[in-house]
Amino acid sequence: MRLRAALPAVFALLLAGCSPARELYQDRLYVFGTLVDVTLWDVTEQQGRAAVADLAREFQAEHVEWHAWRPGPLVELNAALARGEAARATPHLVRLIELSQRLSRQSDGLFDPAIGGLVRLWGFHSDDPLTGKAPPSREAIAAWVAQRPSMEDLTIEGDLVRSRNPAVQLDFGAIAKGYAVDLAVARLHAMGIHDAIVNAGGGMTAIGRRENRPWRVGVRHPQGQGVIAALELADHEAVHTSGNYERYNEHEGIRYGHIIDPRTGYPGHEIVSATVIHPDGAVADAAATALVLAGVKDWERIARQMGVTLAMLVDESGTVHMPPAMAARVHFAGDAPPPVKLGAPL
Ligand code: AMP
Ligand code: MG
Repeated sequence: MRLRAALPAVFALLLAGCSPARELYQDRLYVFGTLVDVTLWDVTEQQGRAAVADLAREFQAEHVEWHAWRPGPLVELNAALARGEAARATPHLVRLIELSQRLSRQSDGLFDPAIGGLVRLWGFHSDDPLTGKAPPSREAIAAWVAQRPSMEDLTIEGDLVRSRNPAVQLDFGAIAKGYAVDLAVARLHAMGIHDAIVNAGGGMTAIGRRENRPWRVGVRHPQGQGVIAALELADHEAVHTSGNYERYNEHEGIRYGHIIDPRTGYPGHEIVSATVIHPDGAVADAAATALVLAGVKDWERIARQMGVTLAMLVDESGTVHMPPAMAARVHFAGDAPPPVKLGAPL
């Protein structure tokens, strides 16, 4: 075994039942305020170490570039937009804006990174744990909603970004990890590493295979610890899970999650978690966030509009909603599988 350190819990599933992993290289980074696990197959320790060092540098640069509240290019762009000025954006930010405009439209505005001001108002622009702070006032939330900041307010010419609405404040928290993880596996591929999985706090992209079978990963359980299901990822496939259990504030017995409905200004609550498998990590990440807000009634329509065919939602009662194609992919963990409501194909 060429493992560098004691195995972290998150890899338990990846390793379960495998033959001696002679060429498995694993490492863990802390970036984007989350743990990023890198697992490489068929590399030497030297190659593995060099590749992970390269990813760490890249992730760190992206972290600074896209951060929504620490000084950096995105904070500067947001300040210019708030002043009503046009500003130049980095190539990645231009790409994130363009991608987000499409995904926002396709999600009927449920995924909308222009609501950074609202996310801040709810107290989520902070590295500190949220400790029982009172939610914002009804009036403050209503004032934000009335300004309707949306990705539709932005226009891009070359690298010049303008907003017709000064309330637009970009926060790519719902898409950045999916985008970054896809970039990371593309870098690995360019380095000649063709079998890998990069997992950033609930979202991951796989390339190639592990030995002679697909990568097998766990989907985190929205309530409590552990995994709710296992699934296999094909080459260049991403899976992202989103839920209000990940980050929330609790005040007077009420939980306020970090996924905020741009229509109401309040956190969504009907769906506890949404998992999306898609060949594009950014799409999987954005769609998982949108589906949390779409609710039981609309999620299938929104998924179709976003080009998502594989998704799974867990509602407040613990019932799992998914199309047959997703049911064929997931293997529930434990002895008592959750109740499942099988929908139509997406
Ligand atoms: P995720 O964990 O991918 O669902 O992303 C959640 C993060 O995205 C939050 O912490 C906010 O920074 C941001 N966010 C919250 N609500 C929305 C929304 N409706 N659309 C886009 N981004 C959001
Ligand atoms: Mg997301």
